[in-house]
Amino acid sequence: MINIMTIDLEDWYQDVELKYWHHYEDRIVQNTNKLLTILDETNAHATFFVLGYNAERFPELIENINDKNHEIATHGYDHTPLLKQTPTKFEKELTKSIKILERITKEKIIGYRAPIFSIVQETSWAIDILKKHVKYDSSIFPVKTPLYSNPNGPRFPYRLLSLDTKMDGEGDFFEFPPATYRIPILRKNIPIAGGFYLRLFPYRWIKYGIERINKEKQPAICYLHPWEIDPKQPKIKSYKWWHYYNLDKTEKRFRRLLRDFKFISIKEYLEYK
Ligand SMILES: [Zn+2]
Repeated sequence: MINIMTIDLEDWYQDVELKYWHHYEDRIVQNTNKLLTILDETNAHATFFVLGYNAERFPELIENINDKNHEIATHGYDHTPLLKQTPTKFEKELTKSIKILERITKEKIIGYRAPIFSIVQETSWAIDILKKHVKYDSSIFPVKTPLYSNPNGPRFPYRLLSLDTKMDGEGDFFEFPPATYRIPILRKNIPIAGGFYLRLFPYRWIKYGIERINKEKQPAICYLHPWEIDPKQPKIKSYKWWHYYNLDKTEKRFRRLLRDFKFISIKEYLEYK
């Protein structure tokens, strides 16, 4: 069974407001290089959802990732959640970020992930815009938490028509929902896709959850941020505890994940299908 690894390429400070970013130390290059080494060790490939802002500042880093046969996709330009955007602004930033990435990779960009998985009911207008510019999205987290609210969304890759799509539909636009574990009797989805959840839950839960997904002959779609393997990053007051929780354990868990399962990028998965 194969699974899908994705990396949201952003620095440790990029969840604070854009106007403060320039105050903080860049650690994205060193952390991403470390991630690339770890991925190499198990011959794993990943899709990197890159912020246009970061690509403009570190084009060699993006080139380096692309040269290692990982996929470059877009995470928008400056990490503004969709709830704070208008359709016009969203489309402008999306096309801007795609152009920056295509100039660097000289390849077509076909995938998108919204900042903090922010495609929800109120921002479902984004789907029709995405269909015009890319082939797939990976932002609809089928869980209910204070951040996301798509508890009834499909749990496995599917053809997406609108946010109300309940199963694999028609068309050639795909959705790759981050991995969840479905509690049998409660019929509730628990996020297990990586990132904060890889830091929060015991590793054996994550492993069990992915095994369950693979038992259904489906890939688990996992994710991580480069800053999550960096316990030495600065501490800032505006961040809540969850940003820093178990950062010193992530690298070890990520390595185990890559040893226990085989991972490829979304682009490879689409070609392989
Ligand atoms: Zn992000």
